[in-house]
Formats: sequence, structure tokens, C-alpha cells
Amino acid sequence: MHLPRSLARLIKELSKLPTIGPKTAQRLAFHIVKSDPEKVKSLADALLEVKETIQYCSICGNITDDDPCALCSDERRDRSVLCVVHGAQDIIAMEKTREYRGLYHVLNGAISPMDGIGPNQLRIKELLERINGNNIKEVILATDPNVEGEATAMYLARLLKPLGVYVTKIASGMPFGGDLEYVDEVTLSKALEGRREL
Ligand SMILES: [Zn+2]
Repeated sequence: MHLPRSLARLIKELSKLPTIGPKTAQRLAFHIVKSDPEKVKSLADALLEVKETIQYCSICGNITDDDPCALCSDERRDRSVLCVVHGAQDIIAMEKTREYRGLYHVLNGAISPMDGIGPNQLRIKELLERINGNNIKEVILATDPNVEGEATAMYLARLLKPLGVYVTKIASGMPFGGDLEYVDEVTLSKALEGRREL
């Protein structure tokens, strides 16, 4: 079927997004074609604005409008506990549990030799620097319940234990093979509560 060039381009761009297959991309593109120009402009502005304004917190690596981020700046949070996660989405999942009151550290990925990602590609040096200078008592490893997450947790445990911090990992019980960000709040709360020393 021959599509107008601009529509074909939009469908192609949309289908590059995660979880958007060709059919959904086509449905969204036709929806956009039929929408009011103001609504489309508002969507386009939001896409550009997020790239222009979002930055990474220089302390924890979370996404933020202001550096340091709201979590790192919050004086009510427990500064002696760090929760290590793969990405900023995992912070959202942990915050939804309302159980955790410490600070975070975003690794920016997981150790995955298959994808060519080793410890040097992750924010591990920054983690060690934080632990050395800041009186951190416990580091909770909230890595994904999958092979890469486990490998990352084991690597970090070996690295961190000699520093004299209490290293724990959130309990299993989460479905293996998944992403932390998709685990429901109740399961994640229980996993946090049932964390074990490594
Ligand atoms: Zn931060």
C-alpha cells in the first residue's frame, strides 16, 4: 500500500519506540493525522522539552530537572542507606512501595558480557566514591530478578563487602526473568522487607 511520505516517516519513527509494534505505530500515526494541530504541537513540544530539560543527578544518577535531584536534596531521607538500582525507572518502582526512606544510586544498566557491558560501563566508580566519603552503613542491591541482575549483584557484593558496609539484596520471590520496574508494589515491598545479607 502506498502511504503519503510524511505518514510513512511518522509510522517508521513511532515503531522504533519500545513496545510499539508496526500495527500500533500505524494506529497512533493515523490518530495524530486526525488530531487538532494544537494537540499535535503540544505532543511535539513535550518530546523536545523532555530532551532539553531533563538531566542526570550528579550524585545518584537519577533523572531530574534540577541537580541534585529532589531525593538527594531531601533532608528527611536516611543518608546512611543506599539502594542500588539499574535505572531511574526502578527508583519510581521503589518509591511506590513507600517503604524505603534512604537514598539511591543508579548504575545505568547491568553487567552483561553478551551485550559487551562490563563494570566499567556502569556507575560503579561513583558508587565506591559515595560509600567511601559518606558514612554509608547499608547498601541494598535492588537489581533485576534476571541473569544480568544477579551477575551485577554478585559482582557488587564482592567489591563492597571489604569496605565494611552491610551489603544486602532484596529477597527473591519476584518472578525470575523480569524487570524490577514492572514488579508490583506489594511484591516489591515484601522483597525489600525480606532482604538478606550477601
Ligand atoms: Zn540524586
